[in-house]
Amino acid sequence: MPFSSEARRDHHPGVRSAYEHMARRNPDEPEFQQAVLEVLDDLSPALTRHPEYAEQRILERLCEPERQLMFRVPWRDDQGQVHINRGFRVEFNSALGPYKGGLRFHPSVDLGVIKFLGFEQIFKNALTGMNIGGGKGGSDFDPKGRSDAEIERFCQSFMTELHRHLGEHTDVPAGDIGVGAREIGYLFGQYRRLANRWEAGVITGKGLEWGGSRVRTEATGYGSVLFTQRMLERVGKALDGQRVVVSGSGNVAIYSVEKAQHLGATVVACSDSAGYVVDDKGLDLDLLKQIKEVERERISVYAERRVGARYVEGGSVWDVPCDVALPSATQNELDADAARVLVRNGVIAVAEGANMPTTPEAVQVLREAKVLFGPGKAANAGGVATSVLEMRQNARRTSWSFQHAESELAETMSDIHDRCEEAAERYGAPGDYVLGANVAGFERVASAMLAQGLI
Ligand code: NDP
Repeated sequence: MPFSSEARRDHHPGVRSAYEHMARRNPDEPEFQQAVLEVLDDLSPALTRHPEYAEQRILERLCEPERQLMFRVPWRDDQGQVHINRGFRVEFNSALGPYKGGLRFHPSVDLGVIKFLGFEQIFKNALTGMNIGGGKGGSDFDPKGRSDAEIERFCQSFMTELHRHLGEHTDVPAGDIGVGAREIGYLFGQYRRLANRWEAGVITGKGLEWGGSRVRTEATGYGSVLFTQRMLERVGKALDGQRVVVSGSGNVAIYSVEKAQHLGATVVACSDSAGYVVDDKGLDLDLLKQIKEVERERISVYAERRVGARYVEGGSVWDVPCDVALPSATQNELDADAARVLVRNGVIAVAEGANMPTTPEAVQVLREAKVLFGPGKAANAGGVATSVLEMRQNARRTSWSFQHAESELAETMSDIHDRCEEAAERYGAPGDYVLGANVAGFERVASAMLAQGLI
């Protein structure tokens, strides 16, 4: 059993058997296996304290989704040619509330990727302290280079099947990679048409004019920076004056840049899947937004338009020296070599804006070097937490100001930080946010599952 921390502690037999059971049943899903491993790795002390979890096989039940949907998504391109994609929705665990989690449109999507994301989502959602279960969905559709009309037709076809599985008390999707405001609009429109109901609580990330919440667009990026700020404060530091590197240049990355700048940091680099830009004066946020949000262009265009900035094709954005690193693109983008470079360059904090961007080996390097490390299920939970705020506003038919929504987000991130910190201390590992997040999320879901009987 390849536990990343084999050397650190002996594993409870219940943890070992649950991992082996899961690995046998899901042999071709490396990302899912990795996500399960990362959580189970920290749960032995919790199982020792609570023998009922092993007796009731809570871990085995947690690793098996309550329901997995796979469906055909046929659509026609602008030339009239027919394409067939595959759609997914994994409804993983609803012990704490309706399934909640985003939709990802990216060619790398398969069932294992959606299961990894859905599994992480269970613990992330539990950590928010709110009543939401975990789920995730998406498609292997590649939106890059597609016209608006093609995106619209794809979203309509995708929702034509998905709509029968959704509902504000059942399953509530949102955005993720490749699914932003435009896609949510098309998806909601098709849902409304098929259901013949204006049911705002069925999807989040909506436009402000039709049920969206202020701060939802900014929430994941803002939240991950607020979480970083709390980690720094705990050791007597602040973001003000720090040099920051962000990976990606999508929704999470852009709003991480914005919040880090608000808090006085200088963000000197960001990237996309083709390369990265370095701008030692600090990124020009308006230019970045214009290029990525309005023109939907590549990040290389930034260096063409900004004096003093340079573009590096390929390579690793983590080669750029920084005090704070915010991986905000995709899974497994920061490996052990990159972690060693960051440590050599004096990094003091790393927080995961993306889901599982840091490989287990890289996490180990950072932990050993005593770098503050905020795992995604805690650091990037601001997005889903603000989605719940959107659902609350929808239910009350009201709309909060930016200031009010932002202060709710700040309070939620502070609570998530404190829950992780408290659990880490309770289990004898102060400052270990990975352990704290895994244990605190797990305990909340496990006790709800126990209370609700064998289902
Ligand atoms: P976007 O689609 O807006 O942006 C994704 C960014 O990551 C793009 O810059 C993209 O570059 C880059 N990227 C994607 N795949 C790769 C890859 N294989 N290699 C290198 N770069 C890549 O997505 P989001 O910003 O919404 O999501 C980013 C991450 O944050 C994901 O892990 C997501 O699951 C996570 N997350 C998002 C939340 C949200 O609210 N949006 C909530 C919680 C987590 P390119 O354009 O070249 O593909």
